[in-house]
Formats: sequence, structure tokens, C-alpha cells
Amino acid sequence: MLTAPQFSPEKLAAVLARIEAAARRAGRDPGSVRLLAVSKQQPAEAVAGAADAGQREFGENYVREGVTKIEALRDRGLTWHFIGQMQANKTREVAEHFQWVHTVDRERIATRLDAQRPHYAGPLDVLVQVRLGEEPGKGGVEPGDLPRLAEFVGGLPRLRLRGLMCIPPPVTGEGAQRVPFARLRELLEDLNRRGHRLDTLSMGMSADLEAAVLEGATIVRVGTAVFGPRD
Ligand SMILES: *Cc1c(COP(=O)(O)O)cnc(C)c1O
Repeated sequence: MLTAPQFSPEKLAAVLARIEAAARRAGRDPGSVRLLAVSKQQPAEAVAGAADAGQREFGENYVREGVTKIEALRDRGLTWHFIGQMQANKTREVAEHFQWVHTVDRERIATRLDAQRPHYAGPLDVLVQVRLGEEPGKGGVEPGDLPRLAEFVGGLPRLRLRGLMCIPPPVTGEGAQRVPFARLRELLEDLNRRGHRLDTLSMGMSADLEAAVLEGATIVRVGTAVFGPRD
């Protein structure tokens, strides 16, 4: 394989400009939205290129692939987020290597991450993934079951519940894209009224990040627009 890594600083700059424009449109401080560069299926060289260009936070979907890159780039001081579907037999590696997990959707996963988080590492920042219109089987807690799961996760000492995440089905048009993102924001506000102190909404990808920023995203997860197409 002779294909060069597809990352270019121009792509990263264009995504940051999109985020900034959307934040201004929403009357928000552009600094209140972080870019999570989704590096799944991208080589470590592409991540290194993005890091050289100033990007600090990266998201991975597959545990082994992610840990390999984390180890290859250990001296760079990057922050790694696990955003893939959580399998119970993979929680230990996630708890040991990542700083954030966006896809906690059941008690069993939360219990294992809490038990397996090493004490030298500090608490693991976690988001609960909520299912908003996806087909069953794709992960995420039903909105009706969210308060109880949030209560449970919030009570675990080695986890720090920071907020919510969703992956709605792709639709076109900003108006339609905003609907599930508004719903996720309302769910977060509802939890905060119940006494939680959540500050993170992980929503929006390459195709719909503007809609997400308009509805309050604090982390947008962007792969293709930063790194180019995946194989
Ligand atoms: C792949 C992926 C992304 C990034 O998707 P792009 O369309 O490439 O920006 C974001 N979030 C999750 C959970 C993903 O799996």
C-alpha cells in the first residue's frame, strides 16, 4: 500500500472554521465547542499529522486499533475518547487506556469500567449514549430509561458522569437534523434539574455538525471531514 496519509492541515482548519461559524450563528462562544477528531481506520501517521497541526483530542471506535495508536503516540500528551459500541469483554482495555467513554448505555458496562479503572489514572469521564431514532441493536439507552441509568452511573466513584451522546440516523436538511439534537439537549437539561451537573453534549459529525452546534453541542465528533474518506 503506497497511499499517503490523507490528513492535511487545510482540512482541519476548514472543520474548525465550520464550527466557529456555526457557534457564531448560535450566539455561542466558539471556544465552548471542542472538536473530537475521529481517527478510526486512519493510520497513526495521520493522527500524528493532526497533532502537529494542533489537534489534541481523538476518538476511536475499535479498542485494539485505538490502543495501538495510543501506545504509538504516547509521548504526545493527546486525549483519547472511546466512541465505539461497548462490549463487556473490552471494558478493561478501555478503562486502562482512554480518558473518555461516550457510549455507556447499560449498568453492566458502567460497573465494569468503574471496577477496572486504574487508580493511578484518575476517574474516567463518561457520557451516556441515548438512542434517538436508531434501529434497536445499535446501542444507546431509551430516553425513558435514562434517568435511572444516569443515577446509577453518577453514583460510581471511579466514573465521572459528564453528559450525553447520540448518533441519530442520517437525514438531510438542517431543520430535520436539529430535531434529535434538541431532544438530547432537553434530556440533559432535565437531568440537571434532577440534581446532576452535566456539562457535555457529544453530538454532530461531518455531515451535521452545524445543526448540532446550533442545539448546544460541546463536542462534535468529526472523521471524514478531518481525515478524508475511510477505506
Ligand atoms: C465514525 C464516527 C464519527 C465520525 O463520522 P464522520 O461522518 O466520518 O464524521 C462520529 N461518531 C461516531 C460514533 C462514529 O462512529
